[in-house]
Amino acid sequence: AKTSGGSQYRLFSKELNASIKRMVDMEASLRKALDENEFYVLYQPQTDIESGVMIGAEALVRWNSKDYGVVSPADFIPLAEQTGLILKLGQWVMQEACQEAKRWERAGRASMTVSVNVSAKQFMQPDFVDMVKGILKETGLDARKLCIEITESVVIDKLKFTLKMLDELVALGVEISIDDFGTGYSSLSLLRQLPISVIKIDQSFIAEMVDVHSVRSVVAAMITMTHHLGKTVVAEGIESDQQMTWLREMGCDKGQGYFIDKPLSADLMQTRMRKTS
Ligand code: C2E
Ligand code: CA
Ligand code: CA
Ligand code: CA
Repeated sequence: AKTSGGSQYRLFSKELNASIKRMVDMEASLRKALDENEFYVLYQPQTDIESGVMIGAEALVRWNSKDYGVVSPADFIPLAEQTGLILKLGQWVMQEACQEAKRWERAGRASMTVSVNVSAKQFMQPDFVDMVKGILKETGLDARKLCIEITESVVIDKLKFTLKMLDELVALGVEISIDDFGTGYSSLSLLRQLPISVIKIDQSFIAEMVDVHSVRSVVAAMITMTHHLGKTVVAEGIESDQQMTWLREMGCDKGQGYFIDKPLSADLMQTRMRKTS
């Protein structure tokens, strides 16, 4: 038993070493990726559930690495956060997204908004608001066309600081959305105190609605409560007609998901806009 324990340990440490090595290697590639133009941004349409009209899109970053192929953001965003690279990357994504939204405006879609994911580390930078201001000025995008998505954990960690930041952003005209709502620890009563105008129900709830009856009631309650707080609700991860119908009946405002559209390249997004209302 003793010897097999020993070999198990060696096996484990070998695997651990391999995974650490992969992280370290990947970090080196990630550091070069911006200069090498290996990142690009996709845009996933969001529609008004009632009318079906496209009203905006979420910017989702992609990394096509020379060394690793296409890497999922679920893998490289955490690495970018740990290494601080998220600051440069996040700024680049916001620049791209605002520039693209300005093109939508020029294409006659003046009411389209663009939602940009902002990580905790980025949001906690004292000059974050200045950075956003700079990008809006540079791209000429109306602040009201930009929506910043933050997660619940960002809000809870440093409530006082967050409140100050949110107030400054809202003063600019930028919209704030709470992403992945329902997966963290924030309560609706906390959200009531924050200048947040949009709540995005996490896609796990939308997925579970299909099989679990009680989850449908939870989603309906979330929508009702959010409306009572005077905020807008977005459902993400809508994959079927049935989910869409339920959400419409529940009065959910906006929707996003494969049933409506996949994340699209900037070019496809332009084509999609010309085809639809
Ligand atoms: P998220 O912000 O919750 O984004 C939604 C994710 O769900 C996206 O995954 C999207 O492609 C996927 N999705 C959309 N519709 C459906 C659907 O109908 N079904 C299913 N199963 N999934 C759907 P993606 O693009 O892989 O991004 C994963 C996460 O990476 C994002 O989750 C976000 O947390 C993070 N991320 C992506 N881009 C950025 C970025 O520019 N900055 C930061 N900080 N994080 C980002
Ligand atoms: Ca998001
Ligand atoms: Ca989400
Ligand atoms: Ca998520």
